[in-house]
Amino acid sequence: MAGNNASSPFAVWHGMERNLIDWHPTVDESKCTGCGLCVVTCGEKRNVFGYDLEKGKSVVMYPDNCMVGCNNCGVACLWNAISFPDMKFLKEVVAKIPVEQIQREFQRKISENSSLIAISRNASVPE
Ligand code: SF4
Ligand code: SF4
Repeated sequence: MAGNNASSPFAVWHGMERNLIDWHPTVDESKCTGCGLCVVTCGEKRNVFGYDLEKGKSVVMYPDNCMVGCNNCGVACLWNAISFPDMKFLKEVVAKIPVEQIQREFQRKISENSSLIAISRNASVPE
């Protein structure tokens, strides 16, 4: 398995070094049928999986490209060949994100995307 490097667009996750967060799929070779679904399920930009043509199995090549918290490929694999760390671990990681970091990201996102601002149906409409 390769990791990623500092120039990767995924090198930092909410202010934390991505390569310090142990979240990525693991393929159980004995269960993998080599169907390739995980390879095509993972986003084109992340491309976590490669494929071993000799063995006819998928391979986790860039684990640190995996989006922290995503388990789409694990859900998609009909042969249950893909596993992840448990959600308790993930919650512990999320709890380490500084509140200030979340606030900064939130403010920036809202200010750059006015379409994300929802208006409550019950809000009074200015005349
Ligand atoms: S989806 Fe599952 S069975 Fe198919 S290649 Fe990926 S790990 Fe193997
Ligand atoms: S969990 Fe999501 S981001 Fe990670 S390898 Fe699977 S599909 Fe890709």
